[in-house]
Amino acid sequence: MSMPDAMPLPGVGEERKQAKEIEDAEKYSFMATVTKAPKKQIQFADDMQEFTKFPTKTGRRSLSRSISQSSTDSYSSAASYTDSSDDEVSPRDKQQTNSKGSSNFCVKNIKQAEFGRREIEIAEQDMSALISLRKRAQGEKPLAGAKIVGCTHITAQTAVLIETLCALGAQCRWSACNIYSTQNEVAAALAEAGVAVFAWKGESEDDFWWCIDRCVNMDGWQANMILDDGGDLTHWVYKKYPNVFKKIRGIVEESVTGVHRLYQLSKAGKLCVPAMNVNDSVTKQKFDNLYCCRESILDGLKRTTDVMFGGKQVVVCGYGEVGKGCCAALKALGAIVYITEIDPICALQACMDGFRVVKLSEVIRQVDVVITCTGNKNVVTREHLDRMKNSCIVCNMGHSNTEIDVTSLRTPELTWERVRSQVDHVIWPDGKRVVLLAEGRLLNLSCSTVPTFVLSITATTQALALIELYNAPEGRYKQDVYLLPKKMDEYVASLHLPSFDAHLTELTDDQAKYLGLNKNGPFKPNYYR
Ligand code: NAD
Repeated sequence: MSMPDAMPLPGVGEERKQAKEIEDAEKYSFMATVTKAPKKQIQFADDMQEFTKFPTKTGRRSLSRSISQSSTDSYSSAASYTDSSDDEVSPRDKQQTNSKGSSNFCVKNIKQAEFGRREIEIAEQDMSALISLRKRAQGEKPLAGAKIVGCTHITAQTAVLIETLCALGAQCRWSACNIYSTQNEVAAALAEAGVAVFAWKGESEDDFWWCIDRCVNMDGWQANMILDDGGDLTHWVYKKYPNVFKKIRGIVEESVTGVHRLYQLSKAGKLCVPAMNVNDSVTKQKFDNLYCCRESILDGLKRTTDVMFGGKQVVVCGYGEVGKGCCAALKALGAIVYITEIDPICALQACMDGFRVVKLSEVIRQVDVVITCTGNKNVVTREHLDRMKNSCIVCNMGHSNTEIDVTSLRTPELTWERVRSQVDHVIWPDGKRVVLLAEGRLLNLSCSTVPTFVLSITATTQALALIELYNAPEGRYKQDVYLLPKKMDEYVASLHLPSFDAHLTELTDDQAKYLGLNKNGPFKPNYYR
């Protein structure tokens, strides 16, 4: 979705170097708490005691998760079990109230709340870290007084995050960062629970901005934290309500795109509040990008095409985190995988992992599947598409729909046939068909679900980033973009270990001295990836 007066995106890479890493985790309120936590065994009861050490709300600050360059390109669970018999009346034209008589929301159908509640409860099963944070909230509430305006996918998993933030003391107003990804029943359940949610699946562009505006522009309520996924909410506040930033203590941003925008603002000297870059934290990149894609690439392809992978020739463009995840899954199912890369280091990694590194033009005639995951544009061109063999499947796992030149396929000599939801056959005059998935948009967002456990890791990181920004004393964070400290990444990981009954080894005093480490971490330098 194009943004009104859209901010130009900065180039990838350079701005990232400006990231300020938080060097000394010990000096931060939340991390000090973490440091004192017993390391031998991860016990939520102990964590609960630690929780009471959060500072009082005096001098706090806060944040949340993000969207994408366009509101139609972003990743999260795409599956919505919304009743297709929903009437066609726009939610904006409906008068709805929840069971407590509140109409402070706008969702497709509030009557779906019970169904949505079940979906949220299912997601909670695999999000134990967030549930453990809630349990700790029985003591002090570290987000008491926080007024969080959020713009993320509205799915069962993000509902668990939103309700966790509420349990930690925050008031939340929420809109969707993607016009397609809202689970209507989940939005209804949130509205029934009292969250001011403005979102439904299939919003128009006008609806999209209207929903964001309803979250920000509310008499008697002013946000003091932003949780964004893609930067659209942040952009809206900058453009329409710059005064709101006088009260905002911080922004938490999850997406690549939103983070780029923040670095650009920072570079231009226009960032007027501290911001946390969750996208580049290890617990996001190494899990969301790698493991999530390792699982959801197969799901997306199977659901749309029923393809069998054994013996199939697949070319994966880009061997970054997403590419590595996709390739591992495809190789495990017996596919013959080729890689294209521009970076010699990633290319060498691909070689060492046993993949052939090729130019796309060298294999384009023979491959059965083409997958892009570069974050770049025009990686698959019309020339490539012209040379593909009959029935070749083409799809994208990267952030936006720029990787495959889909526009070049909208020409009179080619016929498009919609054969299934999200599956188009593009037919050449000689009868050759190319199978294009999700019109070049994110395959897993559009055609499958994303594993809840992975989202739990990202959501926990977001919650902790919000707590840290909200509670930080004046002056700790300047008007800049920060990465989360390694210690916080380690803490997020440790919260998820009990799910696997994993037992960490504790450093002996002697070993800690030998390695020059604190026994309680951080165990790696901030630059370690
Ligand atoms: P990354 O930077 O680790 O990897 C991208 C790789 O593509 C790099 O190694 C780069 O050298 C390579 N590349 C760039 N241009 C290329 C070209 N023209 N040809 C071949 N290779 C090229 O990034 P990542 O974490 O792997 O993410 C890749 C994309 O996937 C991003 O757009 C990201 O936002 C998106 N993403 C998707 C999901 C999902 O669930 N589908 C999850 C996380 C990230």
